[in-house]
Amino acid sequence: MIIQPKVRGFICTTAHPVGCARFVHKQIEYIRSKPSLSGPKQVLIIGASTGYGLASRIATTFAAGAKTIGVFFEKEADDKRTASPGWYHSVAFEKAAHQAGYYAKSINGDAFSNSIKEQTAELIRRDFKTVDLIIYSVASPRRLHPVTGQLHSSVLKPIGQPFVGKTVDAFRNEIKEVRIEPATETEIADTVAVMGGEDWAMWIDYLAQQDLLSTHCLTVAYSYIGPALTHAIYKDGTIGRAKEHLKATSDQLNQRLQKWQGRAVVSVNKAVVTQASAAIPVVPLYISLLFKVMKEKDIHEGCIEQIYRLLSEHLYSAEPLSLDQEGYIRLDDLEMRLDVQQRIMTLWPQVTAENLTQLTDIKGYCDDFYQLFGFKLEGVDYNVDVDPVAKIPSFT
Ligand code: NAD
Repeated sequence: MIIQPKVRGFICTTAHPVGCARFVHKQIEYIRSKPSLSGPKQVLIIGASTGYGLASRIATTFAAGAKTIGVFFEKEADDKRTASPGWYHSVAFEKAAHQAGYYAKSINGDAFSNSIKEQTAELIRRDFKTVDLIIYSVASPRRLHPVTGQLHSSVLKPIGQPFVGKTVDAFRNEIKEVRIEPATETEIADTVAVMGGEDWAMWIDYLAQQDLLSTHCLTVAYSYIGPALTHAIYKDGTIGRAKEHLKATSDQLNQRLQKWQGRAVVSVNKAVVTQASAAIPVVPLYISLLFKVMKEKDIHEGCIEQIYRLLSEHLYSAEPLSLDQEGYIRLDDLEMRLDVQQRIMTLWPQVTAENLTQLTDIKGYCDDFYQLFGFKLEGVDYNVDVDPVAKIPSFT
């Protein structure tokens, strides 16, 4: 089958197995070019197949030599469709990890459910005994609550007042004004139920109850804050409310983890192109400007660079964990630098459809987007017939 990208809105409905493998190998190559770390040895990553979770799996394996169990929710290929990119990433990751002699097993299913938690706990008990690092990197539009049976759908809306702002249709090179009405109380509560900390806490509490946590265990969840430009839609919007809940959850988990001398922490990461961030209005235009400015200043980073820094400079550095005043790890320090943000603020009002390619790195944004699905990767011949069916090694 010849596989081409099919973009619908902010999603691509096809994925390329060879390109996705190349995407994973590039990240492995980056980690191999860095000094190895004495880090965690037995790691559980929830949301391990794309974006920050995939980078976390690659970095803990190839920098620290960790054994990993990855949980994700991906689709296998069938007669009509290619697999989802996270499926192909996981195929490529496991193959590379096994080839290098590392343990790597995966569980595909709904992390919000009790059954996936039970299945994961069983695997930890059998193969690890305990886990020393749990990374929570799930980004989902909905959650079926395992206790109430209610289906919660998250929304990306402002709170209190309508949001009117500039956004980009990256694939049509169009600048548009969007108006988004404020969320209702129910929508806010639903978004918190999906993207807040409840499921993270359920995971940690369940693993604790099953006696599967190592002494000094760490658990990390990821968040984003961003500059004032995006606050109305992000930090002060429904997703921001969910992220506040995530932070409050880390404070509660910290109390409960004292028994293991463990720690829960939220890491505020940089804005990058992932399936999750592409869906947020305004953010793609902001990212296009951010990339332009950070590349000009030679401080640009993607998920893998960020996560290597998280491990080497924060979680497993010889220094005590350095947190900001509110208790966050700040991996977004370069993004939030005054000179970077001032430059973006200067450029933002000037951007039009006509100068989009000059003033912003819209090309870099689009390339990164395609690469999430295995397209536009150097060294991959997209005219060659490929088999879309691929097995995740630990599933066979
Ligand atoms: P992503 O869409 O690339 O990855 C999401 C992961 O969650 C995938 O592995 C997917 O399979 C998994 N997943 C989704 N629903 C699931 C379910 N029901 N059960 C099991 N797994 C499920 O997302 P991302 O952008 O890497 O986001 C991960 C975290 O990082 C989020 O908390 C996000 O807010 C945060 N973050 C993202 C950015 C950014 O710019 N993308 C910046 C800072 C922080």
